[in-house]
Amino acid sequence: MDKEMRAGRQGSNTPRSNRVKRIKIFIVISVIVLLILPTVLCIIMFFKLNFLQKQIDILMVDRYGVTYSGKNSTSNELIAQAETYNSSMKTEQSKTESDQTRISDKVNGKKMTNLEENTKSDYNKKETDTKVSKESNKKDQTGKSNGKSQNTDKSLKTADTLKSDKPDAKTQKSQENEFKDFDKKTVYLTFDDGPSKYTEEILKLLSAYQVKATFFVIGKTDTYSKKMYKEILKDGHTLGMHSYSHDYNKIYKSLEDFDKDFTKIRDLLYDTTGYLSTIYRFPGGSSNSVMKEDVSVFINYLNQKSVVYFDWNVVSGDATGVEYTPQELYESVINGIKVHNRSIVLMHDTDAKGNSVKALKMILDTLTEQGVELLPLNEDVTPIQQVKSSSSELK
Ligand code: ZN
Repeated sequence: MDKEMRAGRQGSNTPRSNRVKRIKIFIVISVIVLLILPTVLCIIMFFKLNFLQKQIDILMVDRYGVTYSGKNSTSNELIAQAETYNSSMKTEQSKTESDQTRISDKVNGKKMTNLEENTKSDYNKKETDTKVSKESNKKDQTGKSNGKSQNTDKSLKTADTLKSDKPDAKTQKSQENEFKDFDKKTVYLTFDDGPSKYTEEILKLLSAYQVKATFFVIGKTDTYSKKMYKEILKDGHTLGMHSYSHDYNKIYKSLEDFDKDFTKIRDLLYDTTGYLSTIYRFPGGSSNSVMKEDVSVFINYLNQKSVVYFDWNVVSGDATGVEYTPQELYESVINGIKVHNRSIVLMHDTDAKGNSVKALKMILDTLTEQGVELLPLNEDVTPIQQVKSSSSELK
């Protein structure tokens, strides 16, 4: 009897303990699935996002000359640059699209079909391709090419060796289109944030090409910088103001602070050179997002002083935290000029912008060859303004 009862109890206990075991295993598996799977997915997503971010940056640089993930120090100028681009892209979108297609066709030899074609390694290929086409274009422009300056440029030497590969008829045709209507364009080259150790070199380059440009300088009182302020004027360029401190937090805090900073840079330039500067560029541009006051307050102030402020509609991308190659900076400027009849090009003259100087040589090479009108800014030039001067006068 006892035996039977024990057997019966065992019979009912065994399936129950099995069930408990199964439930335990189920819970353990569920926990593993719920914890580990999302973690693995997160890691995969992280790498995927990182990859996409890089692709976006490369595309942004290719199309607009700025990245989306620039470093803090220049983020405001980046935002402003991106905004300028957005607005100019809207108005000239259709033209841009056709131009961009043409550019990609030319640069890659075929239309870009996927993102992978935009990887860094392809950039090197593109660089060489463009150099080849640039060189052969020079060949077409008989008598115009500047042999002496080419030989001094190490990067172009590579192109010289590649020049012997004759492009086919189709490539030649697209090269003719590349600089279409450049001889009808006006370009104002502007250099912000100087003087720097490169100012002298920039001035030498500009005079070698007999081109006048505009320097939006900041306040520096050392002997070299003061000499540079004078040299800029002596060479026939325009000396513009870009604030004394270039410190957004100081300048834009209040009208009083803006007035102090403005007076300081204008007086420094006047005392050093005897020239009263009449043009201004807001650090970060007029549509920067760091002003505590409404920008119209500062615009009204400049209007009262009869000072014209200039933004830009073409960037080289040298304000970004990323170190772009001279070729990338060059392409950004040339592609920007293609879609505007009048271009104000933003470049930088700071100690960290050695590549900008190399790019400048290439830019000057192309623009002078293509017959672009290169002029310095002055208060009579119709300005390009992200926030219109006139809109603030109405307020
Ligand atoms: Zn600046």
